[in-house]
Amino acid sequence: ASHTVRVDLAERSYDILVGKNLLAQSGPLATDLLNRKKCAVVTDSNVAPLYAQIVLDSLTSVGITPTLITVPAGEPSKSMAVVEDINRQMLRAGLDRKAFLIALGGGVIGDLAGFVASIFLRGIPFIQIPTTVLSQVDSSVGGKTGVNTPEGKNLIGTFSQPALVLADTATLATLPPREYREGFAEIIKHAAIRDAAMFDLITKTATDSTLLPDLIARNVAIKARIVEADEHELNGTRALLNFGHTLGHAIEATAGYGQLFHGEAISLGMIAATHLSVQHSGLPLSDAEEIFALLKLYQLPTQLPSSLLTDPILKHMQHDKKFSEGQIRFVLLRDLGEAFLTKDLTLAHLTSALEHLR
Ligand code: NAD
Ligand code: ZN
Repeated sequence: ASHTVRVDLAERSYDILVGKNLLAQSGPLATDLLNRKKCAVVTDSNVAPLYAQIVLDSLTSVGITPTLITVPAGEPSKSMAVVEDINRQMLRAGLDRKAFLIALGGGVIGDLAGFVASIFLRGIPFIQIPTTVLSQVDSSVGGKTGVNTPEGKNLIGTFSQPALVLADTATLATLPPREYREGFAEIIKHAAIRDAAMFDLITKTATDSTLLPDLIARNVAIKARIVEADEHELNGTRALLNFGHTLGHAIEATAGYGQLFHGEAISLGMIAATHLSVQHSGLPLSDAEEIFALLKLYQLPTQLPSSLLTDPILKHMQHDKKFSEGQIRFVLLRDLGEAFLTKDLTLAHLTSALEHLR
């Protein structure tokens, strides 16, 4: 059974469809919605051999002419050089302002191709087809697009909402196990900050993958409601999604990108933030232990690699944009499913929280 999650924003509303085997419906769905005849399908070198053909066939079956553009898999493709290259390939293929774009792949492709769509000929509509757990529950929802530069990750980009998102849970079956599991860090995050009742469904999904459409749809809805409340990150609601990310980002960067996957670093960040919640905001220890148990169930790390020292992690934190004038904006839990933002923590608190990861 498919689920539809509607995202209602000030300037645009759109649907996120979640279900099995949606790829084969991409052509008819695109035609119904956009009624355009030409499109670029942007994907990466891992996803192309698995899923490009089924999307291309679906598009041609309804009279759409697709141009397939494949970039090397991996984070380095999220660059301005690749943005220029894709734009130029689209121009040479004769795509014009009446074309649209499909982003087919994980978060790298979603961020990169979404950005291209938002600037190509000053912007054309795009459809997200996320194919990783992380991109289905997180990056494809919310309209943030962009690329990395040597100065930092995700600093160049746009807020640009898709016309439609198709989250086909059947595609998750081909993910390498480590990529599959890291996406569950964001799912467990959503449960911790907004939906305590989801813990049960997350547990059951570990042994029953037929529950994936329900689980993904529930996560999409959580992120959608948060984005609706704070589309442009202005009132603090969207900041709650940073649970586990203040320390997690610092851990990820200090380990060196690629050593710890994003979701693995976030697992560690959430454990530290959960301990701080027990100490500072009255989270019951038994609730904290439920979070730890779920992270373990999905084989996410609970201990820092021993080579990672505390000092470099703290140094990195101080460069974070959440660390302003000596005050850290930090997300804690009051209860399971109830997060809030505090500025009351000091570096000393964070130092002691990191000790829980040794
Ligand atoms: P990714 O796109 O690199 O995908 C991970 C790996 O899985 C890649 O090697 C990819 O080729 C492969 N892959 C993708 N789908 C597959 C499938 N179905 N079967 C087999 N292999 C498949 O990474 P990701 O984890 O999906 O996303 C990470 C990116 O998302 C980062 O760049 C991050 O900055 C971004 N992000 C953006 C937002 C946002 O709000 N825009 C939020 C979170 C993360
Ligand atoms: Zn994250």
